[in-house]
Amino acid sequence: MADILVAGAGPAGSLAALLLARQGARVVLADPGRPVAPRCESLAPAARALMAGLGLEPVLAAARLGQPAAMALSWRAVPEHRRFGAEAPWLLSRPLLHAGLRAAALAAGAVALETRITRLETGRARTADGGMLEPAVILDARGRAAGGLRPLAPARAALPFAGSAPEGAASMGIAALEDGWIWWAEARGQRQGIRVAAPATLSGMDGTARQDWLQAAHAPGLPDLSACSAGRPVPAGLAAAPETQPAPGVIRLGDAALARDPVAAQGLLHALRSASQAAAAAATLLWHPGEAGAAEAFLRLRHQADCEAAIAATAAAQAGQARHATPFWRGTAPAPEAPAAPPRDAALRLAARPARVPLLAEGHIRWTRGLELDATGQPLARVGPYPAAALLAALAAPGTAPELAARLARLGPATAAGPVIAELLRIGALVPGAVTPA
Ligand SMILES: Cc1cc2nc3c(=O)[nH]c(=O)nc-3n(C[C@H](O)[C@H](O)[C@H](O)COP(=O)(O)OP(=O)(O)OC[C@H]3O[C@@H](n4cnc5c(N)ncnc54)[C@H](O)[C@@H]3O)c2cc1C
Repeated sequence: MADILVAGAGPAGSLAALLLARQGARVVLADPGRPVAPRCESLAPAARALMAGLGLEPVLAAARLGQPAAMALSWRAVPEHRRFGAEAPWLLSRPLLHAGLRAAALAAGAVALETRITRLETGRARTADGGMLEPAVILDARGRAAGGLRPLAPARAALPFAGSAPEGAASMGIAALEDGWIWWAEARGQRQGIRVAAPATLSGMDGTARQDWLQAAHAPGLPDLSACSAGRPVPAGLAAAPETQPAPGVIRLGDAALARDPVAAQGLLHALRSASQAAAAAATLLWHPGEAGAAEAFLRLRHQADCEAAIAATAAAQAGQARHATPFWRGTAPAPEAPAAPPRDAALRLAARPARVPLLAEGHIRWTRGLELDATGQPLARVGPYPAAALLAALAAPGTAPELAARLARLGPATAAGPVIAELLRIGALVPGAVTPA
């Protein structure tokens, strides 16, 4: 009998299966094994760091198509050519990434089950052929196919395209169009990308109409798409499940929890991060059932923060668009305004109180002593190198930002103090004003 069933062997499901199998859990990884659409996706640098930390660089290296040095942007009033520097994203083959992560999960001991999971509930999952599995914990990583996602932003559909390109260095670009936007990448003699619009724009189009619509895209810097073929449209809007633990012992992860709009190019990063968090929550339920409440609180708070971050990232990516003022662009949400930095000589006080908060450490989740923000209830177990208790002690008395940074610098690495003060200001843990004595 399996301890854990993972439904869906995309990046999220395979990584969660791998992490749990590495810890010794008996894991079944169920997926119907349909061919993965041959798409090129860009991988954020933070996702590379996460994979490297797990010893999975070889999986990424095998899926890597190239690393563009710059990006062509036809987004603001004037076309740009933005150089990336060391933080350049990688272009990955989606089928190779899926295959590599799945193979790594099986090599770690997960058992493959080639089937579709049709129903999930506490302790039970039904397969397409009528079979029943009864694992202790179920991870739902079926991507958008899990269903039950609610839109967090206007709906979007993406039309993938692919064709040949001249051999040369890897490159990529993005352009705003009247009815949406288009992203393209070139590597290893292939040009691939997506054209994104409101679903109504694509509805009713047959293959020929979609091909014509793709070819009709025009923007400064956009390469010739005449050798590219349009695929089938896929949903691409920002949408999320109301909660990541829909029933006791059932945990959603990856796109099944939060499917991001590709305009922010963070979907893979979220899939991989949420996989390690869901694996830790599953390990907690399995081996530390007394801490189930901490795991549940951790997942709920993480999901809330991830949804807020995804809304902000989507809005920010669209906010700079200045080429078109059409209905598509009028429908996009404005980017939230960053709070103004307080003057350097303003007194700041800590707007957080001691609280019990969930902490992910050593592969599982437990309660620990931390801080809870007064304004939002957001828990803080630590910020940068400083545990919450150290922050509380060092920042209990109000002071200016440089004074508070100097106090933190005495506790740990001096270079971390300034960025930690900036982060505490950003999340509202430090607010202007002296404390009124009780
Ligand atoms: C058009 C488009 C372009 C994108 N471009 C980028 C990009 O450039 N960069 C980026 O970071 N992100 C991008 N993303 C997002 C990224 O693809 C996803 O966030 C990521 O693949 C999510 O991984 P996942 O494992 O959660 O889900 P998926 O990759 O969707 O995997 C789900 C798995 O579940 C399986 N499954 C489905 N139904 C069942 C079932 N009933 N039973 C069992 N298994 C099932 C499927 O076969 C699949 O293997 C893009 C998304 C779209 C739509």
